[in-house]
This record gives sequence, C-alpha cells and structure tokens, in this order.
Amino acid sequence: MNLLLIRLIIFAVLFFAGLKLYRMYREWKLDREEAAQGSPQANQMVRCAWCQVHLPEDEALRERGQWFCSPDHRNKYLEEQQHGD
Ligand SMILES: [Zn+2]
Repeated sequence: MNLLLIRLIIFAVLFFAGLKLYRMYREWKLDREEAAQGSPQANQMVRCAWCQVHLPEDEALRERGQWFCSPDHRNKYLEEQQHGD
C-alpha cells in the first residue's frame, strides 16, 4: 500500500467535493437573488385616493377601483362621493 497515493486520492476527492459544494452554493445564492428581484407584482406600490400617500399593494384597501391606506380614508372618500351626487 502506498500511503502517499491514498492521501493524494483523499485530498483530490475532498478538493472536488468542496469545489462542487461551492458551485452549488453560488448557484443557490444567485437563484435567491434573482427570485428576490424578479417579482415586481409582489410588492407593487399604490396610492391612497384620499391622502395620496404611497403604500405596498398588500397593505392597501381596494374599493370601487381606488386604493386606500386605511378604512378611515376609504370611508371619507366614499362619503364625499355620495355628497357630490
Ligand atoms: Zn390615506
């Protein structure tokens, strides 16, 4: 048995395993970064029809085709529309 050869083989296996893991990690990281950037629908900004403040779509309320930042502003907007008629 050549002990040096066995050590060399073990070293080579560890080296390539590490290289493969490193490449897998890099691909995984790139995938995550692309997933974070490539979703414009997830956090689209909308504007409150009453106070004009901008907020994420998932935090806004939708009523009659308009966006609102709170139920209070939705009520005020609808009230004014009713008075306008
Ligand atoms: Zn508002």
